[in-house]
Amino acid sequence: MPSTSAINKMPPPSYSFPLTDEGTRSGQEEYYTTWELTPRSTAMAILNHGDTTTANGSSPADAAAVAPAMPSLVQPPLDADEFRRQGRLVVDFIADYYTRIDEHPVRPAVAPGFLARQLPDTAPARPEPGDDALAAALRDVRDLILPGVTHWQSPRHFAHFAATASNVGALGEALTAGLNINPFTWAASPAATELEVVVTDWLGKALHLPESLLFSGGGGATLLGTSCEAMLCTLVAARDRKLAEIGEERIGDLVVYCSDQTHFSFQKAARIAGIRRGNYREIPTSRESGFTLSPKVLRAAVRADEAAGRVPLFLCATVGTTPTAAVDPLRELCATVAGHGVWVHVDAAYAGAACVCPEFRHAIAGAEAVDSFSTNPHKWLLANMDCCALWVRRPEALTAALGTDHDVILKDPSSERDCGRGVVDYKDWQVALSRRFRALKLWLVLRCHGVEGLRGFVRAHVRMAAAFEDMVRADARFEVPVPRQFALVCFRLRSAAAGEKRARDGDDAEPNELNRRLLEAVNATGRAYMSSAVVGGIYVLRCAIGNSLTEERHVREAWCVVQEQATVVLAAAACTEERAVHSARCADAPAAVPPVQNEVSLHSFLNS
Ligand code: PLP
Repeated sequence: MPSTSAINKMPPPSYSFPLTDEGTRSGQEEYYTTWELTPRSTAMAILNHGDTTTANGSSPADAAAVAPAMPSLVQPPLDADEFRRQGRLVVDFIADYYTRIDEHPVRPAVAPGFLARQLPDTAPARPEPGDDALAAALRDVRDLILPGVTHWQSPRHFAHFAATASNVGALGEALTAGLNINPFTWAASPAATELEVVVTDWLGKALHLPESLLFSGGGGATLLGTSCEAMLCTLVAARDRKLAEIGEERIGDLVVYCSDQTHFSFQKAARIAGIRRGNYREIPTSRESGFTLSPKVLRAAVRADEAAGRVPLFLCATVGTTPTAAVDPLRELCATVAGHGVWVHVDAAYAGAACVCPEFRHAIAGAEAVDSFSTNPHKWLLANMDCCALWVRRPEALTAALGTDHDVILKDPSSERDCGRGVVDYKDWQVALSRRFRALKLWLVLRCHGVEGLRGFVRAHVRMAAAFEDMVRADARFEVPVPRQFALVCFRLRSAAAGEKRARDGDDAEPNELNRRLLEAVNATGRAYMSSAVVGGIYVLRCAIGNSLTEERHVREAWCVVQEQATVVLAAAACTEERAVHSARCADAPAAVPPVQNEVSLHSFLNS
C-alpha cells in the first residue's frame, strides 16, 4: 500500500469521457419504443416463480420453461462499463420524458390502489430475467408509473409552489448519488464540508442576505432537505439556549409565535420540540393587511404571555406565505420582540429565491436583526429536490443543541488542529448523523447558471404571472382579491358572477363552493393544474408560475382553460338556481316546469 506522502505525489487519475453518440438513441419519432423488452405477462410469470402458483395460474415449472437462463446472482452491483450503458438508458428516458411531457395530462385520472393492483405483492426473488433488467423496469416506469404521476415538471403545472428542475440540478443529483459520500464531519469528507461552507456563502451573497448570517460575517449555513427541518433545528437551538438561562423545568412555559398563514410545518416542529400545544400562538391576519403578521397584535400577545408568567421563545416570520405569498414585515417584527429574548426565524421557503433580484430585496428588509433564515433552492432556484439552505447568526447555538461529543470515533486529529473557529462538523447542525452531499448540486447550479441566469429565470416567471394577473383583471367575472406577490396569482370568480342573489346575500359559502367547482373543472381537463387556499374565509384559486418549461403560451392557454370552465360552471350554477326558483314558485303547481327540461338544457349546453 502506498504511503500517504506517495499518494500525494501520484499524478491525478485520467478519465476518458466518450464524446460519441454511440449507444444512445437516435431520433425522437418512436416514443419509448426502441427497447426490446420481455412481454409483461412472461416477465410477471417469471418474477413470481418462487410462489407455488404464478399470477396466471401456471406452475413454477411452467414458468421456468418459458424463462430464459437466469442471470447470475453475483452480478457486480457497481461496474463502470455497465454503469455507462445503463446511465445512457436512464438519461435517454428522462430526456424523452421532457420532450413529451406536455402530452401528459398534468394530473393523472387514477383511483387509489390503481398501481398496487398492477404490481406483485412481493419483491422478485431474483433479478429480472433477460439481459436487461433495467430496461424492463424502465418500461414499467413508462407504462405503469408515469400514467399515475402528477407531472410536476409539466409547463402546465401551476399548483402549490413549483419544484424547479434543471439539467445541472438533475445531473448534480446524479453526481452526488454516484460519489455517494456521507460528509457528516469535516474529516468524513473535507471537500464536501468545505464546498458547503463556500456555496452557502455564495448563495447568501446572491440573495443579498445580511453579512452577519454568512460564515464570512461570523454566522454560518448548512444545506438541509426541507424547511421543516430548518424550523425544527432552529427552534431546538432557541429552546436549549433559553432553558439554559431559565432552567429546564420551565419548558412548559415556553411560547412560540407565528401567524395564521404560517406553514403548518412550524406547528409540527413546535410539537417535536416539546412546546405545549396551548403555547403555540397563531396570530390572526386579515385581508386588509394583506394577510401579513401584525407587529401590533404580536406585541400584545407577547406582553400578555409575559404578564401571565410565560416565556416568549420563538417567532417564525414568513417571506412568501404558502396561501398568498404574503411578506411579513421583518424590521417591525424584530423591533417588536427586541429585548424579549425571542429568536426570530424567517421562513422564506419559496420567496427567498426572488431576492436574487435586487428589486425584491425589500422583501427581506430588516433581516439584519433575525437569528436565522431559510429558503428552498429546490423551489425556485433550479436545484432539484431536495435542498433547503439554513443560515444562522450564531452557529454555536445550533451546535450546542444538536452537537454530540460522545462520537470520538468520528473525530479526526487533523481536524482538531485547525486554528480559529475549528472545522465545521455538519452532523452538529442537523437532526441526523448521515447527510447528503447537496452542496455539489447547488454549486453546479450556481456555476452553470450564474447569479444573472437565476435572476433572468425568476424575472421571466414574475413577468408571466403579471400577464396572467392582467388577463384575470380584464374579465369582469373574476377578481384578484389579494395583490399578486412574486409569481403567485390568487384569483376567484366574483360573487356577482355567481348570480345576483349570491351577491346580495354577501355570503361567501356559495361563491366559495362555486370557485371550488371551478378549480375541480380546470384540473379535470388535464390541460392546467392549479391549487387553492382559503384566506379570510374566502376560497381562492392559486396560479403559481415557476416551472422551468413554462412559457408564456402555456400561461395564456391556462387562462383560456379557466375561462372556458368558468363559463360551464356558471351556466350549471345558473341552471340550478333557476330550477330552485321554479320549484319554489311551482310548489302549488309542480307540473308547470318539468325539471327534466332544465336537465336537458344543461346537457345540451355542456355538449354544445
Ligand atoms: N414554508 C413555506 C412558506 C412553504 O410554502 C412550504 C412548502 O411549500 C414549507 C414551508 C414547507 O417546506 P418543506 O416541504 O421544505 O418543509
